[in-house]
Amino acid sequence: MIQIEKVSKVYRSRGREVTAVDGVDLTVREGEVFGVLGRSGAGKSTLLRCVNLLERPDSGRIAVDGRDLLSLDGRELRRARQGIGMIHQHFGLLSGRTVAGNVAFPLEVMGVPRSERAARVAELLELVGLDEHAAAYPAQLSGGQKQRVGIARALAGRPKVLLSDEATSALDPETTASILELLRDLNRRLGLTVLLITHEMEVVKRICDSAAIMRAGRVVESGPLRELLLRP
Ligand code: ADP
Ligand code: ADP
Repeated sequence: MIQIEKVSKVYRSRGREVTAVDGVDLTVREGEVFGVLGRSGAGKSTLLRCVNLLERPDSGRIAVDGRDLLSLDGRELRRARQGIGMIHQHFGLLSGRTVAGNVAFPLEVMGVPRSERAARVAELLELVGLDEHAAAYPAQLSGGQKQRVGIARALAGRPKVLLSDEATSALDPETTASILELLRDLNRRLGLTVLLITHEMEVVKRICDSAAIMRAGRVVESGPLRELLLRP
């Protein structure tokens, strides 16, 4: 579902060069939960941003659902972006809009007619267990509820792929467990492929089918979780 081949990204600032991602190869299969584990600065979020087209790699190839992302532009690029949802550590909700308004936002951007939006919003809120909080504002929600809004919003365009950038790092262990359970549930029910980055081994152990370990921009280990855990 996601193929990353020899991807590199170098940042240049004030005459200094940082190779954030250094020749990474990864394959995420359809329907799996794949974790990229590594310390801060390992290059995880740069890699994720390349998959989400927020960042352009200097070299390499990235394909999502058979589409070669780096060759797309204009309308095709927008459509490819729609097929990829993303959730973030700090949720990124619009504080002036209700829960329903936040989930409706991407639908408005996609041009979904008003008449269809309400039903789709209700469906998305039910999917994440927030149907009773549609009229609440983000400030009235717990961290876990905020992340549920983030997940509902990310799924608005019916993406096949969900990217998670440290989605549970700001949450306590119990809430983390419930969000990971929700992601696992969505993965099973919708056949959603999940690519997540984290600095916590616990997260990988809890829900990943496969994982890669990144260090200094490179993948140093990767494979099915069972095999990774057995390695010394
Ligand atoms: P991680 O997500 O694993 O913490 P990052 O991808 O954020 O790692 O960072 C990898 C390396 O790239 C780090 O050395 C970081 O300082 C550097 N880096 C990340 N973003 C930028 C940027 N916009 N400009 C310059 N350097 C960056
Ligand atoms: P905001 O005022 O934050 O912009 P809106 O009231 O415009 O939010 O609602 C955004 C979308 O969510 C609309 O499509 C609306 O039909 C839908 N919506 C609003 N309230 C609810 C609710 N209680 N349950 C389900 N959908 C709702």
